[in-house]
Amino acid sequence: MRMLGLLGGMSWESTAVYYRLLNQGVAQRLGGLHSAPLLLHSLDFAPLAAQQAAGDWDGAAALLGQAALGLRQAGAQALVLATNTMHKVAPAIEAASGLPLLHIADATGTALRAAGIQRAALLGTRFTMEDDSIVRARLQQHFDLTVAVPAPDDRALMHRVIYEELCRGVVSEASRAAVVALIARQRAQGAQAVILGCTEIGLLIDESCSPLPVFDTTVLHAAAAVDWMLSTDTQGHTA
Ligand code: GLU
Repeated sequence: MRMLGLLGGMSWESTAVYYRLLNQGVAQRLGGLHSAPLLLHSLDFAPLAAQQAAGDWDGAAALLGQAALGLRQAGAQALVLATNTMHKVAPAIEAASGLPLLHIADATGTALRAAGIQRAALLGTRFTMEDDSIVRARLQQHFDLTVAVPAPDDRALMHRVIYEELCRGVVSEASRAAVVALIARQRAQGAQAVILGCTEIGLLIDESCSPLPVFDTTVLHAAAAVDWMLSTDTQGHTA
């Protein structure tokens, strides 16, 4: 198997899910006592979140690029960046480390196309919903999808729930009901599916409560990483 480098801690609540899914995926494919060969650099999220809030993306790129270079020096052959939002600086991370990055939008777009979805709603942080360069443009251009984002009030709700609750391990019934209602509004506006475009949203929303079919970027990204670990081709999928 090939050695994966996992950039995590953004937040650690979702990195823990990635870790479990990566190991379960390898165990399911290979059986027995097999588990995922990986190197994890889990960052302290507080300074990174402060950089996001201040718009200091160059600073965040420098921190993540340095961490990625360390993973390469330790033996990683490709990177998984366990957050949608930080894909804003994915090209800088690739450049700093010289490693290919398995892009979260590629895993997501491939699954949406395979399911025959043409129009999906994107939930995520304010950054992911408002800055098309993070994942939205890639989904629309590379996968020929129409990707809608919620109205400003709903974007504010989603952003608050992510940073004030889910990234701190808080799962609230009131927030679940509010996000379910938000998804229902997206369905009323023509969305055929909802993209959980933040790696913590799956802690709150799943198929059992969602008014729309769910495409969870954490689950899809981890599955793509398992495919990469078990594949024999020598190419990573570059951003
Ligand atoms: N994990 C989240 C995401 O997928 C938000 C935290 C972050 O800003 O990295 O976007």
